[in-house]
Amino acid sequence: MFHWRDDSEGLTRAFTSRSGGVSAAPYDSLNLGSRVGDDPADVTENRNRVASALGVPAVAFMNQCHGADVAVIEAVPDCTPDADALVTLTPGLALAALVADCTPVLLWDVAGPAVAAVHAGRPGMMKGVVGQVVSTMRDLGAQSISAVVGPSVCSRCYEVPLELREEAASVTPESRAVSWTGTPAIDVAGGVVAQLHDLHVDISWVAGCAREDLRLFSHRRDGVTGRFGGFIVRKAP
Ligand SMILES: [Zn+2]
Repeated sequence: MFHWRDDSEGLTRAFTSRSGGVSAAPYDSLNLGSRVGDDPADVTENRNRVASALGVPAVAFMNQCHGADVAVIEAVPDCTPDADALVTLTPGLALAALVADCTPVLLWDVAGPAVAAVHAGRPGMMKGVVGQVVSTMRDLGAQSISAVVGPSVCSRCYEVPLELREEAASVTPESRAVSWTGTPAIDVAGGVVAQLHDLHVDISWVAGCAREDLRLFSHRRDGVTGRFGGFIVRKAP
């Protein structure tokens, strides 16, 4: 169920894998995305299994739009917000960001209650979604922010037209990359990490390429497929 999980520092931070769910192919088996064509009952069961494994009653998701909007929430909303980042100060409230190649980022304040989950694909990287999240967390009092960047499509697997690579590099030069075949490519996660570094955020990075690792969902590899997720929750006192 979990590709990576850490339960230290009063937090649970995790990235799921493909396994441990009930969805049929091509969503097999732990698809957490509700807008990819999978059976809604299977997605609900999969989400419930992850919540149970995390030890929480429910998880807050978002309608991800490849933008830079941040939703600050105090509880699981009745209506799923249109956003690409969730921030909360509420202990026990689990946040999720879903991906299948895009970069999932989990952030937390080492000294205070703020935590965040971010979906940062190429558009989000270019629009500066992690910068929006960090400034939102600092506005809410965060003093010392750390982040873990989850697995995503790697730069060698993310071939793009030259113009698109140069457009991304004009925003974040560290995103300029070359594919396995020597053609222009974008390093989305590398760009996100560079942005976080510039914002003085402490970073760790979970190794792995979604396209190359069959234990993860990859839109680039499979087209119609499921979504895995990054999850963060600060343990309730
Ligand atoms: Zn790769």
